[in-house]
Amino acid sequence: MSKQRIVVVGNGMVGHKCVQYLLDSEQRSDLEITAASEETRLAYDRVKLSSYFDGATAADLAITDRDYYRENDIDVVMGDKVAEINKEEKYVVTEGGRKFPYDKLVLATGSFPFVPPIPGNDQEHCLTYRTIDDLGMIKASAKKSKVGVVVGGGLLGLEAANALKCSGLETHVVEFAPRLMAVQLDEGGGKLLRRKIEDLGVQVHTEKATSEIVKGKECRYRMNFADGSFLETDMILFSAGIRPQDELARKFDLEVGERGGIVVNN
Ligand SMILES: Cc1cc2nc3c(=O)[nH]c(=O)nc-3n(C[C@H](O)[C@H](O)[C@H](O)COP(=O)(O)OP(=O)(O)OC[C@H]3O[C@@H](n4cnc5c(N)ncnc54)[C@H](O)[C@@H]3O)c2cc1C
Repeated sequence: MSKQRIVVVGNGMVGHKCVQYLLDSEQRSDLEITAASEETRLAYDRVKLSSYFDGATAADLAITDRDYYRENDIDVVMGDKVAEINKEEKYVVTEGGRKFPYDKLVLATGSFPFVPPIPGNDQEHCLTYRTIDDLGMIKASAKKSKVGVVVGGGLLGLEAANALKCSGLETHVVEFAPRLMAVQLDEGGGKLLRRKIEDLGVQVHTEKATSEIVKGKECRYRMNFADGSFLETDMILFSAGIRPQDELARKFDLEVGERGGIVVNN
């Protein structure tokens, strides 16, 4: 009997856990597993990402390695996004043109950072905070910058601000809402947090809607706000929330939830 072919798309913490689960299952010897990752490395602890700025390396964050996948005879694809699903003939194709047939397909594609549609948001030194590769770019950009702005004063935005501060930059947080962590905190809590953050040397700007990012005079860029004020900065980190990575589901007609995300059954 031929083996059952399982393709797991996404090798974040969930994709990797799924592979582990399959390896531990009683059917293991009947399975042929492929793990496909858009990122250039295997799963790592994304929750601890910020420790990268406290000296942790990519190896410290790794939760698995090539040897584990090799020893368990798993076909690994790295740095090549799955771009197509053919549900009728049951195969996927990567951006690099590699084709993998499957009997069962697992989509563990996680989320991606939302970048507000502000004119000028796609310039060099305008970055996001989600992957180890992002952190590499942030470090490189910080070396060529004096001032940094984080767009978004939520939990992740504040982690990102700390990363900029640790990199020696004059650091600002720009938030659309009237307070930091507006989803979690009431007005009093927001005030207290703001004081603590400002005591750490991070400047906080609330109720600011960025309308455009243009060339600056003192710094690389100037962020113009809807109320007529502006802020100059050399780099910008967007941390304005995440969205489910359900691109494949939308393109290839799988059911998605009301607020996005791939609908699953048991
Ligand atoms: C700085 C930071 C701090 C965090 N702190 C916490 C915390 O304290 N507590 C908490 O609960 N959560 C935290 N999170 C969130 C947590 O990291 C996520 O919930 C978790 O990573 C989700 O895992 P996942 O495997 O589902 O998705 P992801 O980690 O998003 O991984 C999905 C993977 O799939 C890949 N992929 C997507 N599409 C394709 C495709 N078409 N082909 C191939 N590969 C694809 C992506 O590149 C990615 O590598 C934090 C996140 C960040 C960024």
